[in-house]
Amino acid sequence: MEAALIAVSLHLLDDLPELTGPARLRDHVVGLSGTAAVKDTLEALGIPHTEVDLLLLGGQPIGFGHHLADGDRVEVHPVPPAAQEGREEMPEARLQPRPLAWDRFVCDRHLGRLARMLRTLGFDTLYRNDWTEAQIVAAARHGDRAVLTGSRALLKRRTVERGRLIRSDFADEQTREVLQRFGLVRRVRPFARCNLCNGELRPVPKQEVEARIPPRTRAWLDEYFVCSSCDHLYWDGTHVERMRARIDAILAGLPGAGGR
Ligand SMILES: [Zn+2]
Repeated sequence: MEAALIAVSLHLLDDLPELTGPARLRDHVVGLSGTAAVKDTLEALGIPHTEVDLLLLGGQPIGFGHHLADGDRVEVHPVPPAAQEGREEMPEARLQPRPLAWDRFVCDRHLGRLARMLRTLGFDTLYRNDWTEAQIVAAARHGDRAVLTGSRALLKRRTVERGRLIRSDFADEQTREVLQRFGLVRRVRPFARCNLCNGELRPVPKQEVEARIPPRTRAWLDEYFVCSSCDHLYWDGTHVERMRARIDAILAGLPGAGGR
C-alpha cells in the first residue's frame, strides 16, 4: 500500500523564519508522504535541530523523534540566549542540552575570521581551513565543543550535540551572535589567546625577547606577551588599539556588556 499524503503545519517563532528562505515565512504547510519525524520535517525547511529548543503540538511538548499526523500544527520555539536560562517556560521540555552557556568552540572552514575574533576575546576555539565536516564533528565530540557553522548539513548530523547556525556573513556580527547565544558577554578577556593558533598568551620579561622586538618599539614599550603554544610575540601597539575599538563596537548594546 502506498503511504498516504498528509499535510502538517509549522508555526515558527522569533527569528526562525529567517532560516527558511528569502520569504521568511512564519507559517509553513508541508506535505509529507506518509509520516516523518518532526526533526526531518524541520530540517527539510532549513532549520537544523541545534536551533530548536521547544516543540509544542496542541500545547503539549513533543520530542524531535515524534511522528506527525495529518493536520498536526506544531509551534517551533528557537533556542533562547543563554542569559535567559532558568526563566524559560516549560523548562523540563527543552530540547537543547543545558547549560546553554558554553565557551569551547570549533568553527567550520568558512569562519576563520570569527574563529580569530573569538580567540582574541579569550575563548578556546579550534579552526582549520582544511578540516572536513567529519573532522569538525570529531573535534566537537572529543573536546566538548559547540560547532559554529554556516552549513545546515553539518548541523543536521545527529552526533552534533551543541552548535549554532551562524546567520550573519560578517565576522563582527557573527561574534555578537555567539556571545549572546552562549552567554559570553561578561566573560570576554581581550588578548588572552593567540589568534593564530588558539594558545594562551603569557607575559614575558622584556629581556627574554629583546632580540625579537623592533628597535622603535623596544624604546618605548616594556610589556610583552608570548603564545605558550606557537611562541608568537605580542605587544600593545597601534593594531591593538584598533582591535580594542573593534571589540568595544562588538560589545556595544549587547545585554550585560554595559559599562565596558
Ligand atoms: Zn600561537
